[in-house]
Amino acid sequence: MNDPIQKLESSVRGRLLRSEPLEGYTTYRTGGEAEALIEPADETDLATVVRYASSKGIPLTVLGAGSNVIAPDAGLDGVVLVIRRGLGSISFLSGRRVRAGAGVMLDELIDAAGERGFAGLEELAGIPGTVGGALLMNAGTKSAEISDRLSRLTILTCSGRKRVLNSNELSFGYRKSSLAGSGWLIVSADFLLRSGDSAVLRERTENIRDSRKKKYPCDLPSAGSVFKHPAGENAGRLIESAGCKGMCSGGASVSETHANFIVNNGGAKSADILDLAYRVRMKVFEQSGVILELEQIPLGK
Ligand SMILES: Cc1cc2nc3c(=O)[nH]c(=O)nc-3n(C[C@H](O)[C@H](O)[C@H](O)COP(=O)(O)OP(=O)(O)OC[C@H]3O[C@@H](n4cnc5c(N)ncnc54)[C@H](O)[C@@H]3O)c2cc1C
Repeated sequence: MNDPIQKLESSVRGRLLRSEPLEGYTTYRTGGEAEALIEPADETDLATVVRYASSKGIPLTVLGAGSNVIAPDAGLDGVVLVIRRGLGSISFLSGRRVRAGAGVMLDELIDAAGERGFAGLEELAGIPGTVGGALLMNAGTKSAEISDRLSRLTILTCSGRKRVLNSNELSFGYRKSSLAGSGWLIVSADFLLRSGDSAVLRERTENIRDSRKKKYPCDLPSAGSVFKHPAGENAGRLIESAGCKGMCSGGASVSETHANFIVNNGGAKSADILDLAYRVRMKVFEQSGVILELEQIPLGK
């Protein structure tokens, strides 16, 4: 039988799993099986997979912490690349610059920078994503976005060629970037930070994390805000005014704590989440005439 993925089993140094359920890799805890799931051991391993997949036409899907995606219940063909520990190093360069691998969790980076007395990323504390996933959608809050501090980015093209880009070669907006849809893989990012006092930064970061825990339904699986805020509006307020709080579909419901969150109460399928998001969108449109845009990313075709 012709199984092009089998050859990768002997060449990949990282973890390769066949028919792996994606629910263990998404914060919604949903998703069917990946035909193959690879956690590359390092950047070279990653490039091997990307080049091989490109030469054989094997579909590739990239995941960081899976905290902004909806993985299909039918699973994903080809290879799902999980970029975590293998690209998880942090190094401090000259002049308050820090280089983080795409698999570094934002909180880890913020804490490491803070300990060195480097400020600038702490507003992102508590966002449960990786550097790669955060850059792809320009994660942020009302007061800061990850792109604000970006100076350089190292990527692999779809064919596995390495490129270094300055931040001014990319464009970023509210929860979007020119990286989305490019097919590029983020390998690492350099951030230019400011000087700060470690103790002050630690306190500020902890306060931000605490206030997020109070505001968001952190006790149940979710993937953060479902919809982007429309210009001049607040998505949560529109959803609440349309009477959607508590609405259910299968095991998914609109959170009672924060209306712009859908939570998995146990046993939800991605189809339940998408169905609920669709119904919320319709109700908000009927009530206010506003068409909400998904912030979360449904994976697959
Ligand atoms: C409780 C909770 C609170 C949240 N609060 C916020 C918030 O305040 N602000 C905010 O912006 N977001 C928030 N989020 C959403 C999410 O945490 C962020 O969007 C995060 O940056 C996503 O990173 P990730 O590593 O999980 O990406 P994933 O969800 O794994 O992937 C997101 C996208 O990035 C792509 N991708 C991932 N890694 C790479 C890579 N190395 N190269 C190329 N493409 C890649 C994926 O293919 C996918 O398209 C929240 C989520 C939760 C669960």
